[in-house]
Amino acid sequence: MSEEIKEIEKETQHIGRDEFLSKLVKIGAGTLAATIVSNGMLGTASKLIAKSKNETPVKRKYHYGMVIDTRRCVGCRSCVLACKAENKTPPGVSYTVVFEEILENRPNDKPVFMTKPCFHCEHPPCTDVCPVSATYKREQDGIVVVDYDRCIGCRYCMTACPYSARWFDFGENYPAVEEKTPWAEVPSPEYKQFRKREHEKSPIGNVRKCTFCLHLQDEKGQYNKAEGRWPACAKTCTGKAIHFGDFNDPNSEVSVLLRERQYIRLKEELGTSPNVYYLL
Ligand code: SF4
Ligand code: SF4
Repeated sequence: MSEEIKEIEKETQHIGRDEFLSKLVKIGAGTLAATIVSNGMLGTASKLIAKSKNETPVKRKYHYGMVIDTRRCVGCRSCVLACKAENKTPPGVSYTVVFEEILENRPNDKPVFMTKPCFHCEHPPCTDVCPVSATYKREQDGIVVVDYDRCIGCRYCMTACPYSARWFDFGENYPAVEEKTPWAEVPSPEYKQFRKREHEKSPIGNVRKCTFCLHLQDEKGQYNKAEGRWPACAKTCTGKAIHFGDFNDPNSEVSVLLRERQYIRLKEELGTSPNVYYLL
């Protein structure tokens, strides 16, 4: 494998980046391709760690995650809006954002769009640094959450997240709080807590993040796409690029896609093991 990679590396002087990536993927060096892509989109990456496509199965009831098809995303950002509408996030807080990257040698220099929620990492560096254990990975489904009543707003977790997936709610840009407009009276369904936005009360002053819309789970912890109990971004995606599901179920859409398609994860070399995959 390393000889093959060296050969391909030699070719980079003559071919474009996109073609180079696809050659790596063809020989199964998806991790290397991932690092190159993540270098371009999310900062620096230095070291490669070879990882098998089949990781050790996660032992818990549900293993929720996303598979995002970079070939289907049209960059409309309806996922961003759907998330805000569902979670009633204020200005300055956005649980998902869409990155844009122009790869060389794509037809018409078409940009690749990548929507980026929290990756609900298998080994999340954000939770370890919390001095009051306010943020943690749930045992039943692996979703990384924030307990607003415990969070002291120190923002260590924001610094620790290598994907910039956390947001601080400053309570700014929000005159509606004081004015008590009808909009401000609408509670957020987050964590099924239905908090109204009130001055100096949580989640103002807390760190916030994507929860995979866990408030839409039933009492057994299950989602249901047909009933509309599905993460808002995946439900709304106009390009049908965002797939959500349980990796523990071999027949779930996300499991099937990972078996059938080539994929990358961002910043693999950090060992975070994100539960969000990007199809190439
Ligand atoms: S993406 Fe960031 S906030 Fe989300 S689990 Fe991973 S390290 Fe934590
Ligand atoms: S901001 Fe809140 S959740 Fe984050 S580390 Fe500090 S106390 Fe923990």
